[in-house]
Amino acid sequence: MTIHTERGQLSERVLRFLADDPGRHLIGGRWAPSADGADFASLDPATGEELARVARGSAADVDRAVTAAGYALDGWARMRPADRSRLLWRIADLMEEHLDALAELETLDQGKSLRTSRFGEIPAAINQFRYYAGWPTKILGETIPTSLSRTPEGKEVFAYTRREPVGVVAAIVPWNSPMVMTAMKLAPALAAGCTVVLKPAENTSLTALYLGRLLQEAGVPEGVVNIVTGYGTEAGQALVEHRGVAKIAFTGSTAVGKRLVQTASSRLARLTLELGGKSPSIIMPDADLPAAIEGVSRGIFDNGGQVCVASARIYAHRDVYDAVVAGMADAGRSLRMGHGLAAATDLGPLVSTAQAERVAAFVDEGVAEGVTVVTGGERDGANGTFYTPTVLTDVTADMRLMREEIFGPVAVVTPFDDVDEVVGWANDSDYGLAASVWTEGLSNGHRIAARLQAGTVWVNCHSFLGPELPKGGHKESGWGYENGAQGLENYLETKSVVMVV
Ligand code: NAD
Repeated sequence: MTIHTERGQLSERVLRFLADDPGRHLIGGRWAPSADGADFASLDPATGEELARVARGSAADVDRAVTAAGYALDGWARMRPADRSRLLWRIADLMEEHLDALAELETLDQGKSLRTSRFGEIPAAINQFRYYAGWPTKILGETIPTSLSRTPEGKEVFAYTRREPVGVVAAIVPWNSPMVMTAMKLAPALAAGCTVVLKPAENTSLTALYLGRLLQEAGVPEGVVNIVTGYGTEAGQALVEHRGVAKIAFTGSTAVGKRLVQTASSRLARLTLELGGKSPSIIMPDADLPAAIEGVSRGIFDNGGQVCVASARIYAHRDVYDAVVAGMADAGRSLRMGHGLAAATDLGPLVSTAQAERVAAFVDEGVAEGVTVVTGGERDGANGTFYTPTVLTDVTADMRLMREEIFGPVAVVTPFDDVDEVVGWANDSDYGLAASVWTEGLSNGHRIAARLQAGTVWVNCHSFLGPELPKGGHKESGWGYENGAQGLENYLETKSVVMVV
């Protein structure tokens, strides 16, 4: 494995940000260290170098942030919708102006290639704000003709509904695509008139903190967005347990999601969960094979497989199986690994040493059980965070490699003979996040898409997502949907107003 770890010069904006003690909480419009002074290191995953000290939030910080969000709620909810729109649009404009810095910082902190940050993820985050900027003026109630009797005086009953913000939102995001995940929660919550306490993942807090500065520059009133950094079991736990939080919007692992169900149910807090996946891709014998191989390879290797919808289980028809295995192995070997900021890099490190150890443990277990490593399975780098794109065969349905989310660049390829068989295998999972089908036959595409148990099914593509498209998980991949009109619904309540007039 050759790893290019030189990263080149950082831009002025990012250097200035890093030099400015960036790792403080944003609470009620002010940047503050943790109440108890605790902090932790944010590391460059490619080198292990410390990038910044980040405040380690506790219940005291969370309490201040939720209180600030509570104070800000009434003013924000009652702001003229057109003004809220303008602010969301202004946030998008500022993010665009700072696109290069945001992309560089995301890559530095998370590890992904600059190409992915600069041309994929930061623009996707900006699009979230642009899309939801259109919504505040279109949140409508209804007038409802009722069957309620008139009063004895002959007065009439007039009824209507109002759509109102649900209240203070706890937005909790993972580390794999920090800015996109943040925008997917902030943009609809703000459009709906909610105020927010955002908790970024402990591995990747920096772009959220940079965004916090842009929100202030855009003129978002103080307390409307608060950012508390820290660990899930500390700041995260305190946030979801706080009685001032009306709604929890969580993206992360299924294990933590299940715990949040218990926490939220104790006070009936609203809860949406975007959780893990083990997404199948079915390659039919009539597929455009080069396109399918490229699509599923990107689907599992991009961002080191740290993608919730990654194409982790590839089912290739026996007629094309050998070609798919060989093609994916070639695709994996052709990726140049290195520091995300190095110009030549296709694939950066995994987010942390712990994540790389987890991925390696899955593959090592499979090897002990007799799976074939066609390519990959190697770990390297100064802090052991680089993991080579890996293609495995001879993996059986009961192995953890086939059933559990690895969140690494590890593809499992299996041959199939007929459609019923492969649809059964594809659905034989606790997860139901996404799937793809590769076929030149439109009928096949429609029929298989209808039978797959997944929140998103792609035909002849993988990982296409957009702010207009509802995205959510079936089965243990989640509760509820983000994006589109449904994404806005997560942040709204309905109130019936009944009047005698
Ligand atoms: P994670 O569940 O460990 O952590 C996610 C977030 O929750 C982090 O901010 C973490 O600090 C916080 N957290 C952890 N424990 C908590 C607790 N007890 N109370 C409150 N907050 C807590 O997940 P991760 O390892 O950061 O991210 C990877 C996972 O996220 C994968 O399973 C992936 O599939 C999933 N994911 C899902 C989607 C989706 O849209 N469905 C998108 C991206 C990632």
